Amino acid sequence: MRAAFAGRAAWTDTMLRMQRGDMNSHASPPIARPWASTPDQLLEQLNVSPDTGLPEAEARTRRGTYGPNRLRQVESKSPWQILLRQVKSLIVVLLAVAAILSVAFGEWPDALAIAGVILLNAGIGFFMEFKAVRSMESLRRMERVTTRVRREGRVHEVSAVELVPGDVVIIEGGDIVSADMRLIYASKLQADESVLTGESVPVGKRIERLEEETVLGDRVNMLFKGTAVTRGSGEAVVTSTGMHTELGHISTLVAEAQEAVTPLEKRLNRLGRMLLWATLVIIVIVALTGIARGKEIFIMIETAIALAVAAIPEGLPIVATLALARGMIRMARRNALVNELAAVETLGGTGVICTDKTGTLTENRMTVTGLILAGREIVVGGETTPFTEEGRAVDPARDERLREALEICALCNNASLHEGSHTAPAGVGDPLEVGLLIAAQKGGVDGHEIRRRLPEEREDAFDSDAKRMATFNRVNGAYRISVKGAPEVVLASCSRLRTSHGVEDLDDRGKQFWFDRNAELAEQGRRVLSLAAKEADSVETEPYEDLVFVGLVVIEDPPRADVRDAIEACQEAGIRVVMVTGDHPKTARSIASAVGLMPQGDEPVVSGNEFKPLDDMSAEDRQLYRQTPVFARVSPKQKLDLIDIHQRAGSIVAMTGDGVNDAPALKKADIGVAMGRRGTQVAQEAADMVLKDDAFSTIVVAVEQGRIIFDNIRTFVLYLLSCNVSEVMVVFAASLVNAPLPILPLQILFLNLVTDVFPALALGVSRGSADVMQQKPRGPDEPVLPARSWVLIAAYGLLLACSVLIAFAVALKVMHMSEPQAVTVSFLTLALAQMWHIFNLRGAASSVLRNEITANRYVWAALGLCAMLLLIAVYVPVLSHVLELANPGLKGWLLVLLASSITCLAGQAFKSVAGSFRRRS
Ligand code: ATP
Repeated sequence: MRAAFAGRAAWTDTMLRMQRGDMNSHASPPIARPWASTPDQLLEQLNVSPDTGLPEAEARTRRGTYGPNRLRQVESKSPWQILLRQVKSLIVVLLAVAAILSVAFGEWPDALAIAGVILLNAGIGFFMEFKAVRSMESLRRMERVTTRVRREGRVHEVSAVELVPGDVVIIEGGDIVSADMRLIYASKLQADESVLTGESVPVGKRIERLEEETVLGDRVNMLFKGTAVTRGSGEAVVTSTGMHTELGHISTLVAEAQEAVTPLEKRLNRLGRMLLWATLVIIVIVALTGIARGKEIFIMIETAIALAVAAIPEGLPIVATLALARGMIRMARRNALVNELAAVETLGGTGVICTDKTGTLTENRMTVTGLILAGREIVVGGETTPFTEEGRAVDPARDERLREALEICALCNNASLHEGSHTAPAGVGDPLEVGLLIAAQKGGVDGHEIRRRLPEEREDAFDSDAKRMATFNRVNGAYRISVKGAPEVVLASCSRLRTSHGVEDLDDRGKQFWFDRNAELAEQGRRVLSLAAKEADSVETEPYEDLVFVGLVVIEDPPRADVRDAIEACQEAGIRVVMVTGDHPKTARSIASAVGLMPQGDEPVVSGNEFKPLDDMSAEDRQLYRQTPVFARVSPKQKLDLIDIHQRAGSIVAMTGDGVNDAPALKKADIGVAMGRRGTQVAQEAADMVLKDDAFSTIVVAVEQGRIIFDNIRTFVLYLLSCNVSEVMVVFAASLVNAPLPILPLQILFLNLVTDVFPALALGVSRGSADVMQQKPRGPDEPVLPARSWVLIAAYGLLLACSVLIAFAVALKVMHMSEPQAVTVSFLTLALAQMWHIFNLRGAASSVLRNEITANRYVWAALGLCAMLLLIAVYVPVLSHVLELANPGLKGWLLVLLASSITCLAGQAFKSVAGSFRRRS
């Protein structure tokens, strides 16, 4: 079963895996050294125009020639591999030894039966794992890297597999490069090529031609498959795809994806080892007492085998893998795509969720509601009178200052609006910039038109560290610089102010007015941006100096409707929710209060500039940061420190992120959560979970599912182990009192491999108890089974064993049955008692008849199946012969029914008493 554990959905490694077969069957790329050609030469050689891209028909033909752009398909495990794994387990070795010993003693039927059991075990394991692996593979396929290409004159989003040499690709910071390509246009473009070169500093990109012998690390006019664009934008033409890319050539990367062992697997392995030692001790005791009593050697070996078989929960790994895999599928259905099995388990233990604000807690529908210029407050509203000042309509066409502000909104902007679209989303790009474009449009400033009239020559792109951006647009031989960004950042670069009298000096006192106004608006939960501008002669001019401050833009982004409930659910579940935002502290506080993150109202908000570096942090600082629900103006580096603080305090931390520079935080967090819609590909690759709907509530759903899965695993481990312990006790007790074995080794195997597995499987896919989100999160080191569970296992084991021994004794001594009949009675008693025992595993607070076990239809199906299998075992001659079962007769069956219900009745009585105690206290 390791395959399914280890066959973790290594989506992030997909890029690094290769399929050698691709290399030989398709043509080599058409251009040998694309970096040594000029863009024009290259485009001519590839027979493509940068304005229109390839025609679709040509792209199809080229795909046939050069093959799909894929390194190696997500590795499909062959059925043989899966089968082979089934026979490589400890239990199979043990059974094989038992079979060999049986042959040595001339017990041919036993040997054959054991061989049959080995096959059956492999068969069941194979079937289960095959299903688990296949469903995970289909999930993995859901995740596809897409690329924006220009074909037939229009920009399309296509799956990266479909790229062909000659495709014109549009690149943006945050993209994962999906083929090798030569740049034909680049603006502030940088790429992290550490995958190929080991060099972690991003490489600046240009478009000039290079010498033919330029080495890989210096080919600055190329982008390579598998690398990440860290910032800027550009266009490039694909030169090679699939195995012909540089990534495809690096043979060291052909390595198989590491077989990761999930923490759960480690814990189960530990448990397995413990059981093995315990069994060995019992075997030694049995052997010693046997020798002392002069027992036959064959009987002792048989008993030892029975004990060993009884102690090992053979079905456990199968059930554990299936439970995790099913959880993964369930989460995917609820919009949470989990990248690997281990994450499913970790999610359940989440104690802290650090979430960003914009788009996760808020709608990300940014609407400009006001513009504040020196001495003026303009309200921005609906279509009929979009701009009003003191209740009177304002006409932007005749209002120079308002028009200037709107032009900055449109020029310092990378978004674009859908033509004639009146439905959301109104445009493509950053929703904030879409909001600004819509406001400009309302004032008659058309983004497309103005950017065509005043072509952009340079852009200083936005990043969340700098919190500002600038564009240079050409106007009559000079440049118009437009700047927008966080108010305090932009104001720091302004020395002048646009007023109704022209441009005036702006000193610190003058700035204070704007700081105060910004703070007031932020307090109301508004997002505020500053606008500034200046003229320059050269495109090399420093943009953030001596700017003219133009005004503030007020933007509204309402909280998502479902966030309040989700945060409440977290609070009930003992999960701390922390808002970590790049926005202003007052905006952050206001939104935090609106969504219920600050129930007392006076909780601290720590701002990025107050946040101490990790090395300077005192114990009190850490304590304060641990209890702070809101961090504002936080840099990506500070997100890392925050994770560290919570992790050191013993919490499992989930962190959301969407930008390229969030990737380290996403990796460091126990659960990195990326946004499917607004997140960059880099963030999605770094994350453990991708939210298809970007919603905070989906994280909470995933945590809930994670908890349910962990609870399920706990429940079926408890179930399987109590069954195993009962079997050991029965054999041990019988050998101590020198009685015949009440159940034979093959019968135990039948129980462990057939009748235990199905109820356990049903428990593994339970929908969970109602109070799963009312418990505290478990600690990262908490064992699968806490001490209380061990007590329960021993108690249930004892009850089950007692019912079997009582039935056996009554059958032999009171009812004077033959030994095979009495053995059948005890076998059936154990089998049925184990079946009824499943009802003991309901939550303590639930009712006897209506609970998560009785509501689970798989439980009923499993019980039906087990009952059928037992009848077959007793009444189908071949099987009953092999298992040495005899017809128990009506009286025998009555005894079985009576004795087998002891555990369940006692268990339920105990649960009800314990439950009512709990309710009363
Ligand atoms: P969160 O981290 O919760 O998503 P955020 O969107 O405010 O919040 P960032 O995107 O890092 O975080 O933005 C930080 C600040 O930079 C914003 O508060 C805003 O003042 C400014 N800002 C955001 N987007 C832009 C942009 N496109 N151009 C200029 N400034 C921007």
